[in-house]
Amino acid sequence: MTASLADVVEILEDLYPPSWAESWDAVGLVVGDPDAQVRRVLFAVDPVDRVVAEAADRGADLLVTHHPLYLRGTTSVAATSPKGRVVHRLISGRCGLFVAHTNADVAAPGVSDALAAVLGLVDVVPLQPLPAEPLDKLVVFVPVADADKVLAAVTAAGAGALGDYDQCAWRTTGEGMFRPLAGAAPSVGTIGEVTRLEETRLETVLPRGRRGAVVRAMLAVHPYEEPAYDVLELASLPGDRGLGRVGRLPEPVTVEELTRHAAAVLPATASGVRASGDPLRVVETLAVCGGAGDSLLEQAARSGADAFLTADLRHHSASEAPGGLALLDAAHWATEWPWLADAAARLAAAATVDTAVSTLVTDPWTTHSRSPHA
Ligand SMILES: [Zn+2]
Repeated sequence: MTASLADVVEILEDLYPPSWAESWDAVGLVVGDPDAQVRRVLFAVDPVDRVVAEAADRGADLLVTHHPLYLRGTTSVAATSPKGRVVHRLISGRCGLFVAHTNADVAAPGVSDALAAVLGLVDVVPLQPLPAEPLDKLVVFVPVADADKVLAAVTAAGAGALGDYDQCAWRTTGEGMFRPLAGAAPSVGTIGEVTRLEETRLETVLPRGRRGAVVRAMLAVHPYEEPAYDVLELASLPGDRGLGRVGRLPEPVTVEELTRHAAAVLPATASGVRASGDPLRVVETLAVCGGAGDSLLEQAARSGADAFLTADLRHHSASEAPGGLALLDAAHWATEWPWLADAAARLAAAATVDTAVSTLVTDPWTTHSRSPHA
């Protein structure tokens, strides 16, 4: 049961591509030699001293965390600072560190999918969907006998792929016409005479990034001197990826019941779960966002959700929550922790390594008291 660190990183970056991370984020391999062998991988939310000690106790060769170790630049990794100590401890314990943060937030499945799943949500869609991959459509008119050749060329250049299908195209036959003028060198027809002939109208989709390559491939094999073709930009559609999720609860519950349910299914923390508004309000649709979801309050209200569960909600944004949206504020660590098991299972399915999830509570809030007067 071993794999090289380079192989494990490749699998993790396939699940959570670094290009999906926000520009301010710091994701990917932080500590580790790509040639090192990996047998055990520990997943945790925070790369803090206690978690690194746990990784050493468990004999882990790699620690995968959600939160970055360094988010800003540093000029020292000396063990005189908490972060420097983490680097030292990891290296002396021959343990790598890999971070998947905002790239895991927007993945599908990602951090908020796992949160939605533990809460029991169904029919889950992104709360702030990212657009699906932009597509173009190529429409080209080609003599019937040359249609297969043109289709083969454009599909080889990246056109005609839809999900698990390739060579997808639509063709109809109709009549094309043209008149070659002086100076033309027509492959069919005569200068000065109108020519009519059967042509195939060939339509196929392509990723917008392949536009130049597909058009060049088509022009290279098209028999005409001046091929007629259209490149159409297809309207953008919401994709599967994005921040937050919204879905239906299996049955309607009150805010009070939902708060109790959330506190029971999320890992235990001192702060638990608190909610705003009328405790007897009925909730059918719930929006969620793992981690600090302040920025999604508007989207949560617009989504038609009755309530929004996230972490780190602030007084003013919560007081001014739009449209009577009930808010559930959970511990930041607890809302992200469910993702660890999901990520671990996906890595274990793709690599011959043992995986484990840290159960150390690294939420910074450790004590909570209700006022005796409440
Ligand atoms: Zn977070």
